[in-house]
Amino acid sequence: MSKVAVVTGSNKGIGLAVVRALCQQFEGDVFLTARDQGRGQEAVTSLASQGLDAKFHQLDIDDPSSVTAAAAFFKETYGGVDVLINNAGIAFKGADTTPFSVQAQVTLKTNFFSTRNMLTHFLPLIRRGGRVVNVSSFVGSRTLNQCSPALQQRFRSDDITEEELGGLMQQFVDQTQKGEHKRGGWPETAYGVSKTGLTTLSMILARRLSEERPTDGILLNACCPGWVRTDMAGPKAPKSPDEGAVTPVYLAMLPPGATEPHGKFVSDKRVQEW
Ligand code: NDP
Repeated sequence: MSKVAVVTGSNKGIGLAVVRALCQQFEGDVFLTARDQGRGQEAVTSLASQGLDAKFHQLDIDDPSSVTAAAAFFKETYGGVDVLINNAGIAFKGADTTPFSVQAQVTLKTNFFSTRNMLTHFLPLIRRGGRVVNVSSFVGSRTLNQCSPALQQRFRSDDITEEELGGLMQQFVDQTQKGEHKRGGWPETAYGVSKTGLTTLSMILARRLSEERPTDGILLNACCPGWVRTDMAGPKAPKSPDEGAVTPVYLAMLPPGATEPHGKFVSDKRVQEW
């Protein structure tokens, strides 16, 4: 069966650039996925006009039935997945006047809880030698350092579980509803907390893979693409989307037999302190 790579939220921005690079480098089928069928198909057509052959599957990570349908499709059609890049993400603009509690709920939902749900359904499909890349952010590292010492200790610990982490992320959302998050040790950034959570989740799941599938050679990492000119980050960012795709693609293409990085946070192709 041919190999297959799947990129979430790839109708535009960094995700689209990742698909473009994988079409040129990955030996197998590359799936551009998008929550909106029309936007996804349009992106596939634009790649085709550049001579690049991406395939399309609908995938809204916030919709559990869309996630299970996509997972079932890849299992039936390919018998598994070789590369998964969890790129889909959202951020409220700084000037957005939506109440912080709503921003917290909405941002944590997509960037943390829905990405976690993707991993729940797709990790069992990842084949031997597979690569999993979670597109997190340097903002998550900065946010970690702004959390209370007690929270920092948990996020950096080797024994934090997925359940404990999920509980802490939910605690942040709940405390914002009552305006108590600062007293709870959290900084005032929903996006940052969601990415602190995603990087920590990546470390937890990598440890679990090493324990449960020690001989399968799967490498799972979180990364920062850098500050990239997209609809999310605006026109002043220094990197082009293609430059932003470099580190996620490097992690997706780690050569067969590589043993590291695994369970790390990587930026500019280098492992960063956590
Ligand atoms: P864009 O806003 O340009 O693109 C985000 C993509 O995610 C879009 O394709 C969007 O789809 C998709 N998406 C959002 N929600 C969902 C969902 N529920 N299901 C499926 N797809 C969804 O952002 P970027 O390209 O800049 O960001 C990509 C990733 O990189 C994000 O995770 C972001 O947090 C991260 N990042 C970006 C940085 C930057 O400087 N740009 C810096 C650090 C990290 P749609 O078009 O339908 O909205």
